[in-house]
Amino acid sequence: MKAIVKAKPEQGLWLREVPVPEIRHNEVLIRILRTAICGTDVHIYNWDDWAAKTIPVPMHVGHEFVGTIEKIGSHVTDFKKGDLVSGEGHLVCGHCRNCLAGRRHLCKDTQGVGVNRPGAFAEFLAIPVTNVWYCDSKIPLETLACFDPLGNATHTALSFDVLGEDVLITGAGPIGCMAVSIARHAGARYVVVTDVNPYRLDLAKAAGADLALDVTRQTIAEAQKTLGMKEGFDVAMEMSGNPSALAGILDNMCHGGKIALLGIMPDQTPIDWNKVVFNMLTIKGIYGREMYETWYKMTSMIQTGLDITPLITHRFAYTQFEDGFEVMRSGRSGKVILDWTR
Ligand code: NAD
Ligand code: ZN
Repeated sequence: MKAIVKAKPEQGLWLREVPVPEIRHNEVLIRILRTAICGTDVHIYNWDDWAAKTIPVPMHVGHEFVGTIEKIGSHVTDFKKGDLVSGEGHLVCGHCRNCLAGRRHLCKDTQGVGVNRPGAFAEFLAIPVTNVWYCDSKIPLETLACFDPLGNATHTALSFDVLGEDVLITGAGPIGCMAVSIARHAGARYVVVTDVNPYRLDLAKAAGADLALDVTRQTIAEAQKTLGMKEGFDVAMEMSGNPSALAGILDNMCHGGKIALLGIMPDQTPIDWNKVVFNMLTIKGIYGREMYETWYKMTSMIQTGLDITPLITHRFAYTQFEDGFEVMRSGRSGKVILDWTR
């Protein structure tokens, strides 16, 4: 089969012929229809320090996908050939305290599809049946291909009650923009989003933000004034990975405000703990998706009108993956889809 492979420990990815994966008794083989490119894939493409110490070479990558069941292992009973599926990219150990308690997203030994084991940028993918999500075929394929990052956005945005609340989202990347739409859908009052990239700020407006703020031109405090807010934001979601965005959040929360951190900060990022203490803030770190409450919630939200299709800005055949990575690296994109059927 064809796959997009990290073939050499250097910048780039290469389209190569690799064997179709063998499935074990508890696994399924999925025929890939669409995939989406994640920021993580761009790190792997660029071969930064994180990628160099994490990714085995050679290996094909990718973890955002939708496809159909091609083959099932001998112990699999709940899926059949042709079922439309996406899947959870985090494989959990099943044995640690949290796994045994059903809190699988808190597993201490997570393995990543397309990070620690062969990925979804291929004609076929093998994953354990416990990682497969049965899809509503009324949902567009391209949306289903984005369930992994949409799940990150959902997990973050629903971590705290946003109904009637004023929400600040820092970072209008694909996930930040998805979080904007979710906060809207879940009944937030004001949704303010920040970025430094005008293309991304336009995308955030399309996603339903009341204000899309370029923090190189305007402060978050000014945005509060514009909206007539007096006491700060009730809920914040950090989705940029930029330390100055986190500092901006701490300066603009109401007392007792809740902050969910998804963006991955540089090591040892400083934080003004006195603002946390005296303003009695709650900070929650978010990793991945809850299995499978997040998958359930995002499906229901889409079934009841949440629409992320405006955030899907580019489509390419998988053979054109270089163009997909180029537009991702330019910052002038939302989600970028690769089509594995042409
Ligand atoms: P992205 O890199 O596409 O988006 C980040 C955005 O932040 C960009 O548009 C960038 O211009 C903007 N930004 C940069 N500096 C800023 C600043 N000072 N203020 C406001 N915005 C600023 O990333 P994404 O794919 O949307 O993911 C969002 C973040 O979440 C990234 O940090 C990513 O690494 C992280 N992530 C975490 C998890 C997890 O499980 N914790 C999963 C996926 C992604
Ligand atoms: Zn575990």
